[in-house]
Amino acid sequence: MEATRQLFWNASGKSIMYFFALISFVVFIIGFSTRIWSWQQGRHFYYDSLGWRLKIFFSSIMRHDKEIFKGTFRRYMHLGVFYGFIILTLGTLVIAIQDHFGIQLFYGKKYLILSLLMDLFGLITMIGIGMATYKRYISKPDHEDYTFDDAFLLILVFIIPFTGFILEGLRIYITGDFWARWTPVGLFFAILTQKTGLSVVTALTVHAVLWYFHMLLAFGFIAYIPYSKLFHMVASGLNIFLRPFSSIGGLTPVDITSKELTNIGVARLEDFSKKQLLELDACISCKRCQKGCPAYMSGAPLSPIAVIQSLKRHSIAKNSLFKDRGQVFDHSILDKIISKETLWSCTTCGLCEDKCPIHIEHVKRIVDMRRSPSSASSYPLEIQKVFKNISDKGNPRGLSLDSKFYLAKELHVPLISEKNQTDILYWVGCHGSYESRNKNVSLVMFKLFEKAGVDYALLGMDEKCCGNSVRRLGNEKLFQQLAHENIKTLNHYDFKTIVTNCPHCYDTLKNEYPQFGGHYHVLHHSEYILELIRSSKIKPKATNFKVTFHDPCYLGRYNSVYDAPRDVLTSIPGLELIEMKNNRSRAFCCGAGGGRIWMEDIEQTKINSILLSKALKTESEILASACSLCLSTLSEAVNNSDTDIRSMDIAEIVYNTL
Ligand code: SF4
Ligand code: SF4
Repeated sequence: MEATRQLFWNASGKSIMYFFALISFVVFIIGFSTRIWSWQQGRHFYYDSLGWRLKIFFSSIMRHDKEIFKGTFRRYMHLGVFYGFIILTLGTLVIAIQDHFGIQLFYGKKYLILSLLMDLFGLITMIGIGMATYKRYISKPDHEDYTFDDAFLLILVFIIPFTGFILEGLRIYITGDFWARWTPVGLFFAILTQKTGLSVVTALTVHAVLWYFHMLLAFGFIAYIPYSKLFHMVASGLNIFLRPFSSIGGLTPVDITSKELTNIGVARLEDFSKKQLLELDACISCKRCQKGCPAYMSGAPLSPIAVIQSLKRHSIAKNSLFKDRGQVFDHSILDKIISKETLWSCTTCGLCEDKCPIHIEHVKRIVDMRRSPSSASSYPLEIQKVFKNISDKGNPRGLSLDSKFYLAKELHVPLISEKNQTDILYWVGCHGSYESRNKNVSLVMFKLFEKAGVDYALLGMDEKCCGNSVRRLGNEKLFQQLAHENIKTLNHYDFKTIVTNCPHCYDTLKNEYPQFGGHYHVLHHSEYILELIRSSKIKPKATNFKVTFHDPCYLGRYNSVYDAPRDVLTSIPGLELIEMKNNRSRAFCCGAGGGRIWMEDIEQTKINSILLSKALKTESEILASACSLCLSTLSEAVNNSDTDIRSMDIAEIVYNTL
């Protein structure tokens, strides 16, 4: 006897089923194409390396790799539901093909294997849903909260395989299926049914009614996909496929023609790229981006998920087939959907991007909105002043270039204009040139170079602001002007390596100037000091300090330089490095990036004080950093507190031990 079973056993409503299938697919296709259409309205999005993307996509999605599903529990929970539904859908398709085209796929060994797989994966799906329920409603992480839609989906996705098992149990109970051991979960339900003492006649009626219910649920589920969070099955996968190659915080590349420069900002949905519109549907509302966002935690009016969800609601309303035709749709998003205060609150720290499992690019989105002409026309007054100072004098403070402290004759600092050639060109940066706390770091670096016998020089008056904050504030035109001027200056001289202690300058010189023809070997001072220590050109002596290190956003998250500053510190004998709870890629922010250092406070609690309180928990004597902006803001936080901790740059710590 060939193993099989009668399709649509005890189900008389096959034509009704096809009718509901048709309705379900029509509703699905309308919703699906509306979402795709909404993405299509964006600007062109260029992507390359198809092979690499496919490889990453399949390994990310098929294996549910740890980068996406942070945490083993979540990973296995999602794997269960994902593969469960794939197998159940494939099994249902096989049945539909056999029924419709008469191809005998549900026979013999194929039948037994498919029955067993559908049975086991149905159970795995239910276990996955059970795990999701536990995670969301019992051991609920504090940053997550779930809506009615989330609960409804969990119930729906659970009930479909559950009613499938009850149907299978009733069928086995009534027919005494010879092959029932190949559907062990169905057999279990058959035994349960038998124990209830249900008569065969009643069981037949229950089966017939439940079959309709199960069928309606399944088709309702399909129809609901494009209108619910379930659509992330499509959008999140696609967004992972289109993920950026660049490091966190990469901005939209801008063509340097003046026409492009005046038309790069985002004021309406259509000004976003197709990928940025896709991101609105890809977001799974996990809120990981919000947890730890320094702006959000400080009480500023910014939450990265709220930005995405507000734009998504706007996109759905704008593209809805059922919107009021008489309604004049206001296309502007600035100040109507996203407030200017929200835009100016972002420190561009990149923590949200690092945490987002779907690779949503928040920084690019915020900077693109800051770039729009209507944002530009309402720059805060203090920012307008900074732009004028940079434009007129080449630095944000508006001080003359010849007033840089190290140009004082008695310091005898070598200038490249006098040497024309040098091994190390030390890029001092605006903070290192003019800001009181950072001037000491510059002095220490000069002394370290001299002690180590390094051939170094400075640009002196030729060094202008690198433009890092200017670009993040959205003034692309001024940034490109600075980039071209600095590149012209740099190209005039002969040097091997640029060293800088400011990660903002480092990021711009290393990663952004190449877009404009400036290609240099750039090292952060942590990397160079480590080279000097390893080559024994400087030899730190023993100390007994407890030090905690704050990873600067533009050094760590933006450039993955995590080890060099730690190796510098731990190369000092006796120094005890105590890590903060959130370190490396999860490090908090000092609050100064993205131009925030020049702006009035928007937040209720200062971001630098939150960071200081995290550092104080380590009970260290020194709060070390490796960034001009961090040093400024952390020194200010320490000065405004009643703690004894000292805020120091790693170069100062090393120099003090020589
Ligand atoms: S970049 Fe930083 S400040 Fe801006 S939204 Fe993301 S986490 Fe918040
Ligand atoms: S943007 Fe990313 S991290 Fe934030 S809620 Fe959406 S999926 Fe989660």
